[in-house]
Formats: sequence, C-alpha cells, structure tokens
Amino acid sequence: MTLALPFQDTYRHLPAEFFTRLDPAPIAAPSMIRLNTPLAQALGLDPARLAGAEGVAILGGARVAEGSAPIAQVYAGHQFGGFSPQLGDGRALLLGELLAPDGRRFDLQLKGSGRTPYSRGGDGRAALGPMLREYLVSEAMAALGVPTTRALSVVATGEVVLRERPLPGAVLARVAASHLRVGTFQFFAARGDTAAVKTLADYAIARHDPALTGDYRGFLAAVITRQAALIARWMLLGFVHGVMNTDNMTISGETIDYGPCAFMEGYDPATVFSSIDHYGRYAYANQPRMAQWNLTRLAEALLPLLAEETEAAKAIAVETLGGFGPAFQRAWSAGLLKKLGLASVRSEDAALVEQLLELMQAAMADFTLSFRRLAEAAEGETAPLLALLGGTPEAAAWIAAWRERLGAEGDAASRAAALRAANPIYIPRNHLVEEALTAAEHGDTAPFEALAAVLADPFTERPGLERYATPAREEERVLATFCGT
Ligand code: AMP
Ligand code: MG
Repeated sequence: MTLALPFQDTYRHLPAEFFTRLDPAPIAAPSMIRLNTPLAQALGLDPARLAGAEGVAILGGARVAEGSAPIAQVYAGHQFGGFSPQLGDGRALLLGELLAPDGRRFDLQLKGSGRTPYSRGGDGRAALGPMLREYLVSEAMAALGVPTTRALSVVATGEVVLRERPLPGAVLARVAASHLRVGTFQFFAARGDTAAVKTLADYAIARHDPALTGDYRGFLAAVITRQAALIARWMLLGFVHGVMNTDNMTISGETIDYGPCAFMEGYDPATVFSSIDHYGRYAYANQPRMAQWNLTRLAEALLPLLAEETEAAKAIAVETLGGFGPAFQRAWSAGLLKKLGLASVRSEDAALVEQLLELMQAAMADFTLSFRRLAEAAEGETAPLLALLGGTPEAAAWIAAWRERLGAEGDAASRAAALRAANPIYIPRNHLVEEALTAAEHGDTAPFEALAAVLADPFTERPGLERYATPAREEERVLATFCGT
C-alpha cells in the first residue's frame, strides 16, 4: 500500500509564473535521523508510517508521495540591503498543503531536495549539521511559545555535500503556516506585474487574514502587527535571527530560516553572530529597525493596491508603517513587565526595567539566567541573581527595590510561578547546539536527542540538567555561526 498524504493544494492553482513544478532529485540512501512524532500527530499523520521505509523515502525526497505534485516557489529579496530580483526555492520544494485535524492549513516543504530553476550557482543540497540546527532551534522556539515554522523530520541522504569540507547531506521537512514572504510580493512588484501582486495579496489574505478580504491596507497593518509582536518575542528571549533578509520574513508572522541564528548569553545589545554580517545590520538591538525596513519593502510592493493615486497610496503606506513602532513597544514593554513578574503597571516600572537591563549589560550577565533567577530572588534567595548582576551595591539596591515592588503582586507562590512561566531555564545555547551537531556529523546523535528533549520543556527546571542551563565557558564560546548553505 502506498503512503498517500492528504494534500489539499491551493498555491499550485495560482498562475504558472508563481512556481515551477518539479520533483525532488534522487538521493542515494535515505535514513531517518529524527522524526517529530508529536508534530506528525498534530498534523493528523501517522508517525509509524512516516518512520517506515516509504515515509522515510518521501520525507527524504527519494520518492514523491501519491497525490503530491511538488513545486519550487519563486520570490525575490533584499539580502543585506541589496536587491536580488529573483531568488526562489533554490534547494527546497513544497510537497503540498495539509489540513490539520484542528482545521489549520500547513505547507509541507522539503529543504535540501536538489537543484531547481532558482538554484543560481548552488547545488540544491543541505548538510546534516545546519538541518539539525534548524530542527533544534525551530522546535525550541515552538516550545518557548514563539510563532515559528516547525521541523517534522531530518533524513540523511547518504550523500556527501561539498562545502568548505565534505559533509554528510540531509533533507529537512519543514512545516509552515505558509511560505509567503515579503520577497514573494517583491518578485512581482519588481516586474511591474500589478495583477500578480493583487493575486498574491488576495491569496495571502484568504490564507492568513480571511476577515480582511479586499482590504489591502488592513492586510499590510496585520502583517506589521504580527511582525512587531514576533520581533518583540525574539528579543524577550535574547534571540538573534541573523539573516533578516526580506526573503526570510514571512507574511504569516512565523519565524523562518534558522541559519546563522543564536541566543545571546552575556547581555549586549550589539550582539551579532552571523559570520557574514560584517556591519551588524542584523544585530540583536537592530532587529526592530530591520523588520520595519523589510515591512517598508512590503508596503512598496503593495502600493498599487492601496490607492489609485500614487501619492495617496504612499500616504496610506507611511501611516500604516507608523504602526510598527508603537506595536513593537507595546509588545516589548508588556513582555518585559511579565518577565519581571509585574502584572499590574505602575509609573515607576519602566525605570525598574531599564535599570535591570543596564545592570545586566554592565555585568555582561547571562540574559536567560538573569531573568530566570528572578524567581528564586522573589522567594528570598537573592544571592545567585546578585552574583549574575555583578555583585555591586547598585545591583543589591535594584533587587531590593524590585522585591518591594513585587510585593504588591499576588501571593508569594503565584509570583514565583508566574516568573518561572515567563522566563525559560533552557534555551538552545550555541555551544551545546554546536556540540550536538558535531557529534551527529560523526554518527553520534545521542547529544542531539538529549538536547532536543531538554528544549522540548524549557520552563521546567529538572535536576541533572545543569549543564544545559550554564553559559559557555570562555573556551567553549561559539562567536560566529554560519549560513546553512
Ligand atoms: P537563505 O540564505 O537560506 O535564506 O537562502 C537564500 C537563497 O539562496 C534562497 O533562494 C535559497 O533557496 C538559495 N540557496 C541557499 N543555499 C542553496 C544551495 N545550496 N543551493 C541552491 N540554492 C541555495
Ligand atoms: Mg531563506
């Protein structure tokens, strides 16, 4: 019996210039490295069948599932500020769309499935390490409650991919609310194809904002609000995306493309990880500005739909884009207050937040632990927090002032519980991610499995997992991460 996936495609019925119909390139010897069983179940798929020979072949791109007509989607994008009029899925294929039992529609995409007409110079392949990195970090983000694409599986191809050195090849199966990007709109706008921009906008609205049919201004505002909230969520966790090009920014508001991303340890707003981000364009603190820059590109692409007169359309775009700053500030401030355990808002709270961030920066305090240790400090155990914040009289004074302020919030037990629910103990620390990927490249997936299990439950501190909650020692520190090409 063949494994038929219940694909219900809509994108493939858009005009031909939106994609290229193409099957995955053959691979030597697919073998399952990791299947995301809970995610498969949430999608209404049978994990046992996906783990079987036919499932592995399909998730590795070695064969096409019955009912699937894979496509490579075309898009454009500004990469580090420079515009490429045509990018597109250069090493990915959309296998089809699935309706989950809860009624939500998802794309199932393979990444690393071979060359496409959009590969430019690339080989269309992916290495095992970067695909496992995307698996770990995207699944960690999901467990942390951040909107994100998901990872359904990683299948080793049995082939070697040539990068700076030969590496084992792999294919990631990615699940997303859609793969519509700011760059998808830019592709058609750059060609002056207003009819296609409208078709795409109508499609995106139907898929993500069905209440906004025909309301392109409302649609732009909705994307802006989603992205503002998303960037705030990233920053509240110390996450640096690293490659916020317009082709890596979704319309759905999900985080996509886990290349040179990382969670910062010592708090420094100027933190950059990407080895190719020489000017800090996508540094931690620059992310809201860059998101707004990208959304400005989306607004430009939508201009012909916003009003008939160009000047009127521009005025609408500018006004709508003006919503980003306040939306980000609202999400950021509300998130910080929550991280400090403050449910009610008082006028002095903003200063309290500001002072904590200053103390953290001065001490280069571990971002994740500084917030997490607030819970113990709330319970009276202030020494670990004080040590993290540099042990200074200023830090001690801050802790005392914060504890006094916190006293106005509920009872002691619920205060600590709220702090623990807002501040994770486990995040994908870069040195642990690298350790897991290096072992996996050498055939040992145990560290990957262990790390994935820890990150699946990031808010519950468990005995025996101390090393997962400990920042890198000087010699362990990974200062740069590399694009997954
Ligand atoms: P990314 O930096 O992963 O967002 O990719 C940017 C563009 O490069 C996209 O169009 C990708 O499909 C393409 N790309 C990345 N790696 C490869 C590769 N190995 N082969 C072909 N295209 C690639
Ligand atoms: Mg990309």
